[in-house]
Amino acid sequence: MRVAAEAGLDVVALTDHDTTAGWVEAAEARPDGLRLVRGAELSCESPDGRGGRVSVHILAYLFDPEHPALLTEQTRLRGERRERLTTMVGRMAADGYPVDPETFMAGLPPELPAGRPHLARALVEQGVVDSVNEAFAKLLNNSSRYYIPRADTPVSVALEMIASAGGVCVFAHPFARRRGRIVEPSVIIDLAVEGLAGVEVDHPDHAPEDRAALRALAADLNLVTTGSSDYHGTNKTTPIAAETTAPDMFDRLVAKATATPVLG
Ligand SMILES: [Zn+2]
Repeated sequence: MRVAAEAGLDVVALTDHDTTAGWVEAAEARPDGLRLVRGAELSCESPDGRGGRVSVHILAYLFDPEHPALLTEQTRLRGERRERLTTMVGRMAADGYPVDPETFMAGLPPELPAGRPHLARALVEQGVVDSVNEAFAKLLNNSSRYYIPRADTPVSVALEMIASAGGVCVFAHPFARRRGRIVEPSVIIDLAVEGLAGVEVDHPDHAPEDRAALRALAADLNLVTTGSSDYHGTNKTTPIAAETTAPDMFDRLVAKATATPVLG
């Protein structure tokens, strides 16, 4: 919250991956003059529009975090992720890396979703790699022999779940090609019918031509367009406020949510 205010933002969204555990702390830390949108970035799997499946991120904002549909799905995912990470660490240990599945898992906070960034930081601490980025590049990426895919929420289920919990959904960085395979525009058209409220257009991983294509598609579908830095603290290099959302788009998005107010 302090970094956001210092960057000159008048509103910031907190969208941790698959958790709302930081909502209270963020609300308490919010300085005067900074408005706070509470949300989460949901890991989902989606049709890719070419007959296959692809993993996507959905930014869910201003929903009721206690809605039963959300809690059930959260519990399911959390257990699945811990199992998956345990297996990944076990594979690395078997290959001689200085990581122990039991010690590693015991060191993770039980209330948070466990993911590859946790393992990446452990590998940095053990001196296996110099940085989180290097851990992903060398050992934890999707084509690594240690990688195990996750069972994520189907995107249609996520849209329905967030709608019933009074929130709004924005497709996060849909055309971020350097992160891996992306969806065809036809998928965004289908999701718009299923209740998707917007698409994230201005994102550090979007090339100028992809931003233009997305903006045109959003205009055709009457979707809100957003921009965000995808700030990850020290885990990534993009500074906060590197990308922003236009005030009129922000108002359109907020008007669609019914469960949790914007603070401030
Ligand atoms: Zn994302």
